Amino acid sequence: MNYYLGLDVGGTNLVAGVVDEEYRIISKVSIPAGAHRTIEEITDDMVAVSLQAISKSGLSEGDISKWGIGMPSYVNPKTKLLVHANCFGWKNVPIYDYLERKLSLPVQIENDANCAALGEALAGAAKGVENVVMLTIGTGLGGGIIMNGKIYCGADRMGAELGHVKLVYDGIPCTCGQKGCAEAYCSATALIRQAKEAVRQNRNSLLWDLCGGDINAIEGKTIFKGIEMGDETARQILEQYTEYLTCAMSTYITLFRPEKIILGGGIAQAGELLLAPIRERLIPNTFAGTEIGVPTVETAKLGNDAGIIGAAFL
Ligand SMILES: [Zn+2]
Repeated sequence: MNYYLGLDVGGTNLVAGVVDEEYRIISKVSIPAGAHRTIEEITDDMVAVSLQAISKSGLSEGDISKWGIGMPSYVNPKTKLLVHANCFGWKNVPIYDYLERKLSLPVQIENDANCAALGEALAGAAKGVENVVMLTIGTGLGGGIIMNGKIYCGADRMGAELGHVKLVYDGIPCTCGQKGCAEAYCSATALIRQAKEAVRQNRNSLLWDLCGGDINAIEGKTIFKGIEMGDETARQILEQYTEYLTCAMSTYITLFRPEKIILGGGIAQAGELLLAPIRERLIPNTFAGTEIGVPTVETAKLGNDAGIIGAAFL
């Protein structure tokens, strides 16, 4: 049996896991990221948490074939520098130099959203599927593309920025500095913004009761709760949101023609409440949708484990 080490690096936690060749996580250790610290300290902890995961698995360093790391960044293949990691304030960091000094395993670093997509394609909701688009709906809108079983990286390993595809010309300002990006309409943040606007205009909405009269207390799940209770405003909010989301998804389908689209992130937990209206809109709104159909749309299965499994199998 071969064993691989995966490390998921985020602004909040560093989570390491040992994964066997059948994609099972056999040990997992999580420690706080301590994002305010120096590169030296954080990379020390990236190694430490990884060694703890090996130790917890009962294996030794020599039993591990390779080490993969998913980070909210990517390494430029020309300069070998980690381009930027906003969660740590890093820019053009010689990350391999730091890590290889501290642990003598072959290491590879990849964007965390790409790792999650690979994890879902290897062992999760798209297990065994060669062409997959994974979309993570959270504070932002991220994702990864698996093309012919491999992460699509593009030139300079920039990959694809699914959330920054233009949805509306001269539209709402996006976090990236552009206007009208899909993220500005389809992230969880955008859904909540759309909900607040609708609730302000509909004094009779049940969402007022569900948020206790405090509009700032509205979360994604508040909207889905409203839908379950038959609230018309909540239904309209989701209808508008899924129109935007389906529009973005139809672009991904037309460009990449995946077999499956996997939706991850908190909003996707709504399951069929979200998936059913998407499926209904996707065929008529996608190029050749009525003639050749559209990919199946499913929610992610592995949660945060997808990033560890994907990293381990880079
Ligand atoms: Zn953008």
